[in-house]
Amino acid sequence: MTQEIKRTFSLEYFPARTEKGEQSLAAARRELSILKPAFASVTFGAGGSTQEGTYQTIEAIVQDDGIDAAPHISCISTDRDTLKTMLDDYRKLGVTRLVALRGDLPSGYGIAEHNELRYANELVQFIRQQTGDHFTIEVAAYPEFHPQASSARADLENFKRKVDAGADSAITQYFYNPDAYFRFINDCQHMGVTIPIVPGIMPITNYKQLARFSDGCGSEIPRWIRKRLESYGDDIESIRKFGLDVVLHLCEQLLDGGAPGLHFYSMNRSEPVKTIWNTLKLSG
Ligand code: FAD
Repeated sequence: MTQEIKRTFSLEYFPARTEKGEQSLAAARRELSILKPAFASVTFGAGGSTQEGTYQTIEAIVQDDGIDAAPHISCISTDRDTLKTMLDDYRKLGVTRLVALRGDLPSGYGIAEHNELRYANELVQFIRQQTGDHFTIEVAAYPEFHPQASSARADLENFKRKVDAGADSAITQYFYNPDAYFRFINDCQHMGVTIPIVPGIMPITNYKQLARFSDGCGSEIPRWIRKRLESYGDDIESIRKFGLDVVLHLCEQLLDGGAPGLHFYSMNRSEPVKTIWNTLKLSG
């Protein structure tokens, strides 16, 4: 139905914090760079814990993996001068794509009193002021709405602010209900937002971890999926098999419905992404 669409398939890593984590990340990069994704993005710890790790991981991808690298950059605990330095450093490294976010602070920190830039739209505007069109700027989108949004309508309007500020494309928070995505796209089109909005895909491999993440970020695990996953208990193999089935079907529905690509939250593990990628015969 949508063969003429230029689709983008990409993936995400997080910086390793331990020696074991380093090994998993290195193995994932080795296996996944072979797939030639359009880019690999690297998360950024807004609380400060992995900010250097983001730069180092991006540097390693640029130098060793032969694919484009996109650092996540957040404004919630970063002042303008620090942001300017980061942008310069990434430019010198040859980076041309960023994922621009507000980020999350550890609980207990207020937003207004700690920040020069309070929301992602202000960060996008700042990046454009400082660097013109050098960077392709990705922003976050929430088909099931951001947990702190005052209303669905306000969240859509706030998403549009980021686009109006100069975002080129968006990556969504993960979801397992394709209708939420298609409705979100529809609403965006009605508001005149036409940038590509690429679904973020979270493979299902560990139910307890997924349930914890989902509670925090406002992504819904539909009841029927939750119940089935719960019933597998510690049977990791069954969780993975069922999870793969669910996520493969979700990806197929999204692509059949015209999604402009997929962005995989790899969690620094190669296997689920590789299986989905190869089954669907994707190419970056
Ligand atoms: P914003 O777009 O600023 O929105 C945040 C909230 O404020 C929303 O409720 C919105 O409706 C509201 N809002 C926005 N603009 C305004 C305004 N002008 N006035 C009033 N209200 C407003 N977190 C990290 O810490 N590090 C990462 O690397 C990271 N990577 C991510 C990657 C993706 C693809 C996604 C989807 C999320 C990622 N996150 C990451 C999580 C993200 O930082 C959090 O969801 C954060 O709470 C919001 O960031 P944002 O950029 O979407 O914020």
